[in-house]
Amino acid sequence: MIPLDDARAVVLAGCEAPPPLRWPLRVADGCVTAESVTAVDAVPTFDNSAMDGYAVRTADIAHAHADAPVTLTVIAGVFAGHPVDVTVGPGECVRIMTGAAVPAGVDAVVPVERTSTGEWSADGGAFTPDTASPKSPAPETVVLTGPATVGDHIRRAGDDVSAGDVVVTEGTTLTPARLGVLAGVGRSSVVVHPRPRVGVFTTGDELVDPAWPLAPGQIRDTNRVVLLAMLARDGFEPVDLGRVADDETALRAAITAATRSCDALVTTGGVSMGQVDLVRVVLDRLGDMHWMQVAIKPAKPFAFGVVASGGRRIPVFGLPGNPVSSAVSYELLARVGLRRIAGHGDDDLVRPAVTATVSGDLRRRRDGKVHFARVVATPAAGGGWTVTSAGSQGSHQLSVLAGSNALAVLPDGDGVPDGGTVDILVLD
Ligand code: AMP
Ligand code: MG
Repeated sequence: MIPLDDARAVVLAGCEAPPPLRWPLRVADGCVTAESVTAVDAVPTFDNSAMDGYAVRTADIAHAHADAPVTLTVIAGVFAGHPVDVTVGPGECVRIMTGAAVPAGVDAVVPVERTSTGEWSADGGAFTPDTASPKSPAPETVVLTGPATVGDHIRRAGDDVSAGDVVVTEGTTLTPARLGVLAGVGRSSVVVHPRPRVGVFTTGDELVDPAWPLAPGQIRDTNRVVLLAMLARDGFEPVDLGRVADDETALRAAITAATRSCDALVTTGGVSMGQVDLVRVVLDRLGDMHWMQVAIKPAKPFAFGVVASGGRRIPVFGLPGNPVSSAVSYELLARVGLRRIAGHGDDDLVRPAVTATVSGDLRRRRDGKVHFARVVATPAAGGGWTVTSAGSQGSHQLSVLAGSNALAVLPDGDGVPDGGTVDILVLD
């Protein structure tokens, strides 16, 4: 048996990111950038209003008060996308909408809610507020009953991004907001490490598609749907290559097809010592394979190699057939190699472990392996996580994996007692 880290080293030695491509932003979420992007212009490029209201000269209303309101003359209305070329003079203001360019001469915006177009009644009675609606025609005058501070509700040019700022560095994993920042600096595409297309086929004469009736000895193919979904969640492009019989010719044809259409291949089944473990036989003919017994449970048997066919070479991950084993093997080994192909850096390949407190206990026996126990992790009241066993730990018990949301890393030994701490991998 070899330690998990040694198996990962074998995988990483055979995985590299292909040449970067320029991709439209709309398909680049989750991709790793292969360029740094510098803002040519500031964002925003012009001073604009953060509120619907009136753009004023603060000096004009410095002494405005409910008992001493100031009436300003509204000389224009300014809407977003329609800048107005006026200079606002003393005693004047403009009605302005959110996002509209602030004209020359003003230094603050007073929100419409704090203004009024009401009039003092002629007999000196009560002031009647008549809140100016942004939708109504621009009034000729507006009444202010308080002062404003220079800069109030004005978004200055460059206060999000300055011209010359590096908004995204090379090696950044794109997120929706980062894509938005790129769009904001005028980019519609970005150079990325393309999301790898990952083919999946399952093997085994006993397998049938989920909707088929079961003949004696048959089971439903569950690995394929699990792996295709895990690949999609991890930001790769899954390619369903179907189910392949335990037959050399069929396996060879499936692998050859994968080298043409995919950047990597994941298979399940046929990598252990069984008599019809033909995946092993066929892969050995096509590539330089490493057959490993990894010191982990589940998912001890694992194969990795680079397979050549038709002038193309692709990495192949041969995962064990048992349903929990194939998912855990994917998580711990294939995912790491695929993230490398997707351009992630060395420190961003493995899912980070977090510490949890065990509730109940997580028993195991000594066997020279690290166990990855299916557990239920819940955020603890005072921070951190609490974990309990999700149930029986058989590598065929997919329902227990389905009832878990994390793997607890149990080093060789007797396990972790109630109240002890354990590293967990929280799966999303
Ligand atoms: P193998 O690695 O091919 O020897 O398979 C190990 C176990 O996993 C056997 O019990 C298989 O029937 C089962 N198995 C293999 N492939 C799948 C699959 N795609 N879905 C569900 N179970 C599978
Ligand atoms: Mg099999």
